[in-house]
Amino acid sequence: MLSKEAIKALDRRHIVHSWSVQADLDPMVIDSGRGVHFWDADGNKYLDFSSALVNLNVGHQHPKVVQAIKDQAEQLCYARPDAACLSRSKLGRDLAAVTPGDLNRFFFTLAGADANENAVKIARAYTGKFKILAKYRSYHGATYGAITLTGDPRRPPVEPGIPGVVHFLDPYCYRCSFGLTYPECSLRCAEHVEEIIQYEAPSTVAAVLLETLTGAAGFFAPPDGYFQRLREICDQYNILLVVDEVMVAFGRTGKWFAIQHYDVVPDIITLAKGLTCGYVPLGCVAVTDRIMDKLDKEMLYAGLTYNSHPLACATGSAVLQVYHEENLIENSQRLGILLEARLREMKARHPCVGDVRAKGLFSCLELVTDRETKEPLPAAISGGIGRRLLDRGLSTNVMRNLIFIGPPLIITEDQLATGLEIIDELLGEIDQEIA
Ligand code: PLP
Repeated sequence: MLSKEAIKALDRRHIVHSWSVQADLDPMVIDSGRGVHFWDADGNKYLDFSSALVNLNVGHQHPKVVQAIKDQAEQLCYARPDAACLSRSKLGRDLAAVTPGDLNRFFFTLAGADANENAVKIARAYTGKFKILAKYRSYHGATYGAITLTGDPRRPPVEPGIPGVVHFLDPYCYRCSFGLTYPECSLRCAEHVEEIIQYEAPSTVAAVLLETLTGAAGFFAPPDGYFQRLREICDQYNILLVVDEVMVAFGRTGKWFAIQHYDVVPDIITLAKGLTCGYVPLGCVAVTDRIMDKLDKEMLYAGLTYNSHPLACATGSAVLQVYHEENLIENSQRLGILLEARLREMKARHPCVGDVRAKGLFSCLELVTDRETKEPLPAAISGGIGRRLLDRGLSTNVMRNLIFIGPPLIITEDQLATGLEIIDELLGEIDQEIA
């Protein structure tokens, strides 16, 4: 066993961490986890209010998932991607049982970023066109193609990316780019997508690719009618509708897939995170039978040594079984209603809360200094929120002035109340600081 100090010293000496200024990093040494909690190397216990990176939907160390990994490791750790094997076939069957419409064919990747990159390849191959339209407030992954699709500030520092990506404005009602209010706006944001398609020439556009609910780039859902209109526009111009559900699929929003809130069937859904809950890396491109009927006759120019990894596939099936057996989709929907009510009640008491957005166990508080002007909480305060919550035993993701609340779907009502109490207390302090 190494001491905490030794682990940290080796980390500082050898490990390069993602999305960090290495010299500024003081990483927490995480020791263990169980359910909705994890512990650091000093024995401090934390309530995980963000499911790590919004992926640990079944919580830490779920015994059934751990057992499935052990069993698969005993049976077969690896099989080349062009072979068939039991865990691969089973996961295909298990996923097809829950995906909407005829999304019955699956290309298994390593994570969310390469799922999006492969969705682009499939859309280009199917349509024979090359442009991809994506939103500005979006995150689709950090590999070169995926970061090019991404519209948020993480893209420009690594440009130039891949050719053929065009960005459009978001359906972000709290700060509408068109200065309009729903529903009087008549979904100007959706019509704007059609306008861009016209400028770009419909004969060049292969796909409109967007997060169903925007994750780290803003944590918001589009208004009702938006996806229905996008579906019509895409159909009109023979363009594929691709939804990135890497963060929001598998019950996060109270339905198996977030797009099911909108009664629309996309042509492709990209998945990762909640598919294996981070126990083993796995992503997926879910494609309709209609698209694959055509592409089945052509070469698929895509593949990595570790695609459809048997260990990951076995993990995916075990995770899906847990969702079913423990009614986690229903739990997310039920607790989501309580969560939203509690967040709205906090907004009524705390002037620093500008907006509350919630669907299932996917929610966020947008903090401002002034509700009228919607001036975001300054970085001097928002930058310290994550640390201040950790000091009170709560771990969650804070992006700029947004506090994200997305606990594991196994959370109980009491545990949810405990975490919200901690946030409530901190909001009271922030009210004082901006007064
Ligand atoms: N798409 C969305 C919506 C995401 O939130 C993320 C990661 O947070 C990704 C894609 C990239 O997934 P990964 O980090 O597994 O490559």
